[in-house]
Amino acid sequence: MTVWICQTCAIEHADTEQPPVICEICVDDRQWVPVAGQQWTHREQLRQLGYRTRIDELEPGLHGITVSPKLGIGQRGLLLCTEGGNLLFDPPGYIDQEAIDVVRDLGGVAVIASSHPHLTGASIQWSHAFGGVDVLVADADREWVRRPDPVIRFWRDETELLPGVRIVQCGGHFPGSSVVDWQGGADGRGVLLTGDTLMVNPDHKTIAVMWSFVNRVPLSQTAIRGIQFAIQPLQYDRIYDGWDALGTGARSRVTASLERYLAVETARQVPPVAVPTPSC
Ligand SMILES: [Zn+2]
Ligand SMILES: [Zn+2]
Repeated sequence: MTVWICQTCAIEHADTEQPPVICEICVDDRQWVPVAGQQWTHREQLRQLGYRTRIDELEPGLHGITVSPKLGIGQRGLLLCTEGGNLLFDPPGYIDQEAIDVVRDLGGVAVIASSHPHLTGASIQWSHAFGGVDVLVADADREWVRRPDPVIRFWRDETELLPGVRIVQCGGHFPGSSVVDWQGGADGRGVLLTGDTLMVNPDHKTIAVMWSFVNRVPLSQTAIRGIQFAIQPLQYDRIYDGWDALGTGARSRVTASLERYLAVETARQVPPVAVPTPSC
């Protein structure tokens, strides 16, 4: 039996003889299916094709795990190392022996979590490589689990992952879209790991929130207010999303970015100015 990996999203699926007909994650309006149709791969094929992992320090206690060539959505996994154990967040869809060895040298993995269903990658393979550690999945997104396994634990609202590290449900892109609040990050000023719950924009000054990034479908005002409500109590100075970072002053930049969305939405709702009836 083979653990099939969708080539478009790099999310692992349950072991079967034949690959599934479609990837439900990619058929959904928040992802996409290539014009050429659904394609599958698996770990051994990726290894033979020369896929490699690379692990880089992003700041003290935080490492990025990238796969090259780019695989699926192409996020970097984030390994957050604390004295209470390590969190693997938004794991990539591929794991090799080199990654296992380097992560083991960094203290291994105590728990795995993801920001949302698109960035679950090969969570179960990563868990099994590190002794079957818990894989946390937001209860609100349980329908998107593609590879059921006893290591999965469902959570809701917020939960502590490690001492000083918690995951907070924000909603928006997915009902269970979440951020990790790492109080010790950025020299104690606080860090959020956000996947694409909050995505850093190319200007490195603002963030984006969307219902579908790839298909450019915006969120409702209600959903944006829900994100505001969830993150308002959090204290942080820096953000790492699945690809990029927003440096010093991230909290005020996030606040301003969300207000910008709401201002645009409000402007759109202003009733049209009455046109005077011509008198004759
Ligand atoms: Zn897919
Ligand atoms: Zn996504």
